[in-house]
Amino acid sequence: METFDTLIIGGGPAGLTAAIYAKRAGLSMVCLDPSPMGGGQIVNTYEVDNYPGLPGISGMQLGMEMKKHAEKLGADIRVETVQSVEKDEDVWKVTSNKETYLTKTIILCAGASNRKLGVPGEKDLTGAGVSYCATCDGAFFRNKVTAVIGGGDVALEDAIFLSRFASKVYLIHRRDAFRGAKVLQDEALSIDKIQVLYDTIPDEIQGDGQVNGLKVHNKKTGESQVLPVNGVFIAVGTEPNTHDWSWLPERDEKGYIIAGEDGVTSIPGIFAAGDVRTKQLRQVITAAADGANAVTSVQRYLIEH
Ligand code: NAP
Repeated sequence: METFDTLIIGGGPAGLTAAIYAKRAGLSMVCLDPSPMGGGQIVNTYEVDNYPGLPGISGMQLGMEMKKHAEKLGADIRVETVQSVEKDEDVWKVTSNKETYLTKTIILCAGASNRKLGVPGEKDLTGAGVSYCATCDGAFFRNKVTAVIGGGDVALEDAIFLSRFASKVYLIHRRDAFRGAKVLQDEALSIDKIQVLYDTIPDEIQGDGQVNGLKVHNKKTGESQVLPVNGVFIAVGTEPNTHDWSWLPERDEKGYIIAGEDGVTSIPGIFAAGDVRTKQLRQVITAAADGANAVTSVQRYLIEH
């Protein structure tokens, strides 16, 4: 069985950039990604306006271009889900739902997923008015009333995007100041259809087979109300896709793999890149940079071992 120089787990911007750099460095590699489309979280973003040189590109197009680029260089990207990783003497044995691989190093680029809000009604009404992806589901809410929960970049972007379809968008934030970028705040606040409710805590998503209300209260006044909404878009951040894997390097209290810019983790031979690692800024550009850096660390590791 072939022993790869590196096996990349995840096919988002970090994993695809790692694949590009690995191929250009002449490393033997394989990249496993559970999603048939690939591209990671970015494919759910309507518009990416801060990736240098490509203003306004859709997230889907950016993700697909990165994948095409890696494949053009000969990267072997397979639609497989990693199930286990074991150390086998000097190499790692990685078992997916389809095959077993041997590899000298692993670059873990598993990314992150949407965090759940954890209120009554959320789970039961997911797919029946509750969504975590405005880009995917927004068009179903043409002329309907929607709510977006959160105060970060994603919540602001979702509210702006939904205002193109919905008759009204409540933007519900638990504090009195947004966390997201000023440029997005300015745009959201300039749209009449968007009504911001600050200091507002969501308590329950109501509905009978389909969302018809969102119960909230103001944490300063204590006042409670039910907003008559047809859709609730939850954008309260992300959590790392570290699953319940037992083989992972050290993680922080939120589950992110502890690694610096070089991707070096607490386990020699396992590197982390992109949203799955501890970092200040989780964006496409920092994920891509991580992928490049991780391959440089892999090359150094291969020389030293
Ligand atoms: P985020 O920046 O972590 O923001 C999450 C928001 O949800 C915060 O405003 C937070 O409130 C709120 N929140 C968290 N838990 C909550 C709860 N239980 N109930 C109510 N509200 C809750 O997450 P994000 O917006 O998903 O963004 C994720 C990452 O992607 C960020 O690094 C972001 O910069 C990046 N991103 C960037 C762009 C861009 O550059 N264009 C676009 C999309 C995403 P608090 O503010 O009170 O903590």
